[in-house]
Amino acid sequence: MDRASDHSLDRSSDRSFNGRLFGPGIDGAGLEVSASWLGKLLTIDTELPLNIRASDLQIAAAGFNMRQLQVSWQDGEDAYAFFIEQEEARAAFLATAPQSLQASLADARKARHRIDTRFHALLGAYGLYLALPAILLALFLFNLDRVVGWAAAKVPIGYEAKIGNMVLAQTRAQSQVIESGPAAEAIRQIGGRLTEGSRYQYRWLLVRNEQVNAFAAPGGVVVVYSGLIKQTDRPEELAGVLAHEIAHVELRHSLQGVIKKAGFSILLSVVMGDWSGSAIGGGIATLTEMKFSRDAETQADEEGLRRLVKANISPQGMPEFFGKLAKKESGGPDLSMLSTHPASQERMKMLQERISQLPARSYPPLNLDWERIKASL
Ligand SMILES: [Zn+2]
Repeated sequence: MDRASDHSLDRSSDRSFNGRLFGPGIDGAGLEVSASWLGKLLTIDTELPLNIRASDLQIAAAGFNMRQLQVSWQDGEDAYAFFIEQEEARAAFLATAPQSLQASLADARKARHRIDTRFHALLGAYGLYLALPAILLALFLFNLDRVVGWAAAKVPIGYEAKIGNMVLAQTRAQSQVIESGPAAEAIRQIGGRLTEGSRYQYRWLLVRNEQVNAFAAPGGVVVVYSGLIKQTDRPEELAGVLAHEIAHVELRHSLQGVIKKAGFSILLSVVMGDWSGSAIGGGIATLTEMKFSRDAETQADEEGLRRLVKANISPQGMPEFFGKLAKKESGGPDLSMLSTHPASQERMKMLQERISQLPARSYPPLNLDWERIKASL
């Protein structure tokens, strides 16, 4: 007793730190003890005080989430470990440790920082897993589109561009891209006018394919088949198709479609920011025949018309082209686009109504030699 109280007098209390000591002859749960630095000696208050030289100590971050400092040493055959867990105790230990230990303390701090970062990521993932049943339930009870919209809204623009790059690479590998010439140039020129000021960096691809089709990938990749251009009678019709596809990008319909197709594993990537891309591949494969909801199509029509007007291009080309396709005889060209964009009476009526609501004005015709452009394909 005397010895203990004497001891507590010869050091200031803020220089001591509590921890749990493990070693030979100590109960498995460890022993709560107080310790302090005496110069280069770590002094641990036990019945027989332990004095260990700093140079004999090994220090590491340990425990759940690396929140403990683990101080360990050998005494002959015997191994000891002293765990400091409380924030204040760790601070006191670190503040009063001899200079010679600072290097290994810095290492322990770094390890803990790394673990902290990982731990927060893990917590996020774990939290999501816990939330998944609730998310799935919400899907069935409420609205799939809303959940997908939520996920899409969390995807950074830069990542959308990465998805677009994958589509670009895939399209280049699987199809014959017409890199230059008057038709490719016309797409770039009209597309450029329709996307002025966009937050996306658009990439335009003209593919040699007799199908009448066009589609948009997330992040601003627009693919047009040569077969579609052959079915147009004037550049305003191509502009109408481009404006509609651009609207799907701007309204993030393409991104939402990829998320729907890729399934909910992508939700994890969205929340975790882990863009390994593997979950997305399946969503991209079906972009060419991706069908959006009727609401999304209506939105894309409206946004497309708005962009045409803003770019000073006649919006009539849009209903003109889709209406014309609907009248084509079967046995003609493969009208793939009609399967995803039916030119229904309702849709045509809506387009004409919207156009008639616009202030009456004339639009300068697109100055392109359309017959020459079509002949180049
Ligand atoms: Zn569409």
